[in-house]
Amino acid sequence: MVDYLIVGQGIAGSILALELIERGFSVKVIDNHHYKSSSLIAGGLVHPMSFRRTILSWNAEVLSKHSISYYQKKEKELKANFFESLTFLRLFGSIEEQNTWFTKQSIAPYNNILESFDDSKIEKYAIKNNFGIGKVNWSYRLHLDVFLPVVKNKLEELGALFLEKLDYSKLEVLENGIVNYKNITAKNIVFCEGHQYIHNPYFSYLPQNLTKGEILILNVKKLPPYLISKNCFLLPLENEKYILGATYNWSSTDCETTDEAKTALLEKYSKISDEPVTVLEQRAGVRPTTIDRKPILGTHPKHNSIHFFNGLGSKGVQLAPYYAEVMVDYLENKIELKKEINIQRFTQKYYNA
Ligand SMILES: Cc1cc2nc3c(=O)[nH]c(=O)nc-3n(C[C@H](O)[C@H](O)[C@H](O)COP(=O)(O)OP(=O)(O)OC[C@H]3O[C@@H](n4cnc5c(N)ncnc54)[C@H](O)[C@@H]3O)c2cc1C
Repeated sequence: MVDYLIVGQGIAGSILALELIERGFSVKVIDNHHYKSSSLIAGGLVHPMSFRRTILSWNAEVLSKHSISYYQKKEKELKANFFESLTFLRLFGSIEEQNTWFTKQSIAPYNNILESFDDSKIEKYAIKNNFGIGKVNWSYRLHLDVFLPVVKNKLEELGALFLEKLDYSKLEVLENGIVNYKNITAKNIVFCEGHQYIHNPYFSYLPQNLTKGEILILNVKKLPPYLISKNCFLLPLENEKYILGATYNWSSTDCETTDEAKTALLEKYSKISDEPVTVLEQRAGVRPTTIDRKPILGTHPKHNSIHFFNGLGSKGVQLAPYYAEVMVDYLENKIELKKEINIQRFTQKYYNA
């Protein structure tokens, strides 16, 4: 019998599995070949800002610092390179935004995060610079296309990974709470299925507020090798390729690409540069966003051995390391979860359903 059966090996399930293994627990993971995984669509960006109002995103100081040191440590432990520091430039959209930025960059905590940027450094690039440029510190990228396979290999070496779709009808919870699934017996099961939790009969009572997102992979010359933000982001890849992202669509939960999203993204691009682009690829995924924009952690209202680790929204890379620790402290050390992230905030919906 294992201590934990984890369902899903996206960023949430991967980091939770690593945390449990590190603390000495036995783990098995079932993953459906990353089918519709939003972790594979994500740009993998880690930064502390919310640009609409030039403020820190929720809990950003704690979460950014924690995730940066986490991934740096994991690179050493797992002997792989998947975490990269970025030069992140914000093209101001108005004189008001520029003023707000300049005022904030001398006030704590922004004085460590926001900086001025000397425009002349990017004069040679095809960038439209109407209102000036700021630089954002603490900006990194997790290469999920490297990180997830590294974790997968580690789980395979431990004989802990099963590549299949979990069939809920074959999941049995015995009276003593022991979980049986085919030939696996576990003391606990933790669902880390990202947006696909909507098919999970144990958690169908949770309110849904998922956000589809699409990105384009572009080929374009004369752009700088920096991450650029202005109503969208342009993330440099190798050989004059860039990711242009991302759309936010609350009315669809499929993972199909659309012409509307392509047009919207290219329209946003036209505010950054006039340089012609070739669209090489388009991808779509669904962010596991929640009704109150907070993660959802905890235990099923009736089954003490069925748990949920999800709702990482549009910042899974930044949230997963911190909240995986919180989750294991809760599961094993009985440390109470804060109300704002505790699944119990939705318990009434379970009884109303
Ligand atoms: C366009 C776009 C851009 C984004 N950019 C960023 C970014 O720059 N930075 C950032 O932090 N976040 C970003 N995000 C958000 C990020 O993708 C999510 O926060 C994160 O990936 C969620 O991870 P997850 O592990 O919860 O879910 P997922 O990545 O969806 O993983 C779920 C896993 O569970 C498996 N699974 C599901 N159901 C079952 C089942 N029944 N049986 C077996 N396996 C199952 C799936 O195969 C999958 O592998 C972006 C998202 C989108 C769509």
